[in-house]
Amino acid sequence: MKPAPGCPVRFFYRDEYVYDVLEAGYRHTFDVNRPKRIRDGLIQVGAVGADAFHEAPPVSDQQLLLVHTKDYLESIKDPDTLARSLLLDPSHPWDERLLEPFRFAAGGTVAAARMAATERLLCVNLGGGFHHAQADKTEGFCAIADVAIATRLLQRDRRVERVLIVDLDYHHGNGNALIFADDESVFTYSMHTVNWCWITKRNNRDVLLPPHASDEVYLKALSESLPDVVDAFDPELAFYVAGSDPFIEDVLGDCDMSEEGMLERDRFVTGQLWGRGIPTVVVTAGGYGESSWRIYVNYFKWLLEHEAGR
Ligand SMILES: [Zn+2]
Repeated sequence: MKPAPGCPVRFFYRDEYVYDVLEAGYRHTFDVNRPKRIRDGLIQVGAVGADAFHEAPPVSDQQLLLVHTKDYLESIKDPDTLARSLLLDPSHPWDERLLEPFRFAAGGTVAAARMAATERLLCVNLGGGFHHAQADKTEGFCAIADVAIATRLLQRDRRVERVLIVDLDYHHGNGNALIFADDESVFTYSMHTVNWCWITKRNNRDVLLPPHASDEVYLKALSESLPDVVDAFDPELAFYVAGSDPFIEDVLGDCDMSEEGMLERDRFVTGQLWGRGIPTVVVTAGGYGESSWRIYVNYFKWLLEHEAGR
């Protein structure tokens, strides 16, 4: 059998995505070292070499202001204010390094989107996907709305018009839904459990799952809803907010997806987007606990070994 040529995927990562907050009273279950673990995991399984990762500059103030308000930008530059909004220990002497991982990860999303749109590639950022961040508000450990900034930037530069955001993070993608509420050029699709139905802001398409959704239930709901959205909206660029928190080992989510089921999810979405010729950007988004990184290594290794739907 002829080996599959593999998908022409490009990765974005740099060490600045990781800032060690563990020494400073950080008690959240999000693994802050995850971007590096994914990178190291891909190298360890022989999927890529150490030189496979593009490094992007951090997102600039000017780019931030495409989505966020001036007052908000000033507020997140103040380490104490940012620490409070991220629910970090206020007694720790925080400094400007606290915002840096957000700026660098968002810069990675911007660069990945630019490359995907101009070179018609599938680009993966090993960070980003801060889907709760809003124009004037930090929420759920999301300080910078990276996907929204990248979208506005590419639209401003007339690289793309119609952008689809496919959000399969366990949580509701309320930040992007709010930012693009009155913008018909951006379609937000989000699948999450009924736990989030109290959120009043709706995406263009919300798919609700029952608690403890199995592989079968989850993949059925996905396959019955996503293809029609892609057909009808016909995007020129797609973001896949690929949160790993529907995984059964996730310590926050209550979905019962197996490791194989998660890979099947990612393969399906890739086929629906990249497989249809749509330039695609994958961002890692949420995922809690020690095993989250494995879900991404499985997915990205698969991307490198397969044509991914084409
Ligand atoms: Zn999440």
